[in-house]
Amino acid sequence: MKKLAILGATGSIGSSTLAVYAENIETMSLTLLSAWRNVDKMVELCRLHQVPFAFMSCPSANTQLKQQLQQDVTQVLVDQAEFEACIAGVEVDAVMAAIVGAAGLAPTLAAVNAGKQVFLANKEALVMSGALFMDAAQRSGAQVLPVDSEHNAIFQCLPPECQGAIGHCNLKQSGISQLILTGSGGPFLTTPVSEFKHLTPAQAVNHPNWSMGPKISVDSATMMNKGLEYIEAKRLFNTEKSDIQVLIHPQSVIHSMVQYIDGSVLAQMGLPDMRTPIAHVMQYPERIQSGVAPLDFTQISQLTFAAPDFERYPCLKLAIEACYAGQGATTLLNAANEIAVEAFLQHKIRFDQIASISADVLSMFANSQASSIEEVMALDGLARNKALSLVATRVRQA
Ligand code: NAD
Ligand code: MG
Repeated sequence: MKKLAILGATGSIGSSTLAVYAENIETMSLTLLSAWRNVDKMVELCRLHQVPFAFMSCPSANTQLKQQLQQDVTQVLVDQAEFEACIAGVEVDAVMAAIVGAAGLAPTLAAVNAGKQVFLANKEALVMSGALFMDAAQRSGAQVLPVDSEHNAIFQCLPPECQGAIGHCNLKQSGISQLILTGSGGPFLTTPVSEFKHLTPAQAVNHPNWSMGPKISVDSATMMNKGLEYIEAKRLFNTEKSDIQVLIHPQSVIHSMVQYIDGSVLAQMGLPDMRTPIAHVMQYPERIQSGVAPLDFTQISQLTFAAPDFERYPCLKLAIEACYAGQGATTLLNAANEIAVEAFLQHKIRFDQIASISADVLSMFANSQASSIEEVMALDGLARNKALSLVATRVRQA
């Protein structure tokens, strides 16, 4: 029995993971659940699955959880240190890293440093810490398996020697000419750019194909999500600039592709449902049930493709530039974007200001570097403070 921890259990990926777990209950046992502050949901999940350990990162929520689960089998961990120790301990074999944003870095790194199997959905953790994350995995022997649908698709299309060397693979040596990262273009693919100033959070989170949490939904609308994924791909698959291409594919049937030097292109396809990549990693290399319906090709009228338009998606351009500017830039970009997206969701700034705030923070600290996790955290804090002050200025100007 694989002992599984789900970090971010109350979210969209957390729920999909629990659904795949429910399909495969005879091969896995849930030993740890974590979330931010939805106490009622956590109480329900802990009781339903009789989970041995639980933790909520919001201290008042954690206290409430402890009170409510007093008579239950679940032990509520007291603080972040005990939470990370549990992740690293004998109760856990594999960790679904599905906290949203930078908050996921410390617990995910705890799993990586302890040599656990890590199912990586929390792309922000990798974007902000990059090579430090992958080097830590190499040192500890942790197996990092990509859950993000594009990276999971690429992983599935890679030869075994690359699958076994995530973070340090040699694409050229395996005859790979390019990774093709597909993205739907989000809800504003055909909206006139002149209307971007007036777009609302409700419109932005209304993704045409995928059902996801609010932050990644906004990131998909700006295509910052594809930008973060571009950086994620560089880290996971050790790419150089010419190794990777972004392609708009509005139907989200092909989840990404790998092109080989002989002209062959391998694609992974399926319905846009995260239970498929989640099931793929959970007992990799064995295939298990996901609960996802088979793809019915007779229902697909067309598959279309286009190059991304950087005027429409300035965040994508910013992220690709940051990817080659070094670790400091990707840490800054991730932090500034998180603050800007949150401010947009709270109706404090306009949709188009997500890109301008991120760009301003990047240019203010253009030469920053981060060569340790401490430096990453310091830079992350600096970028957040700057982004918050820019949000306040934009609010005053409005
Ligand atoms: P979500 O908002 O639905 O869920 C986020 C989870 O993280 C919740 O359980 C929440 O309680 C927890 N959380 C939030 N803030 C926290 C904090 N400060 N400390 C601790 N826990 C906190 O998000 P989601 O859509 O499930 O996305 C989770 C991660 O997976 C993100 O990094 C996202 O980019 C990635 N991802 C999501 C999808 C998708 O389809 N939803 C696809 C690919 C990758
Ligand atoms: Mg994705």
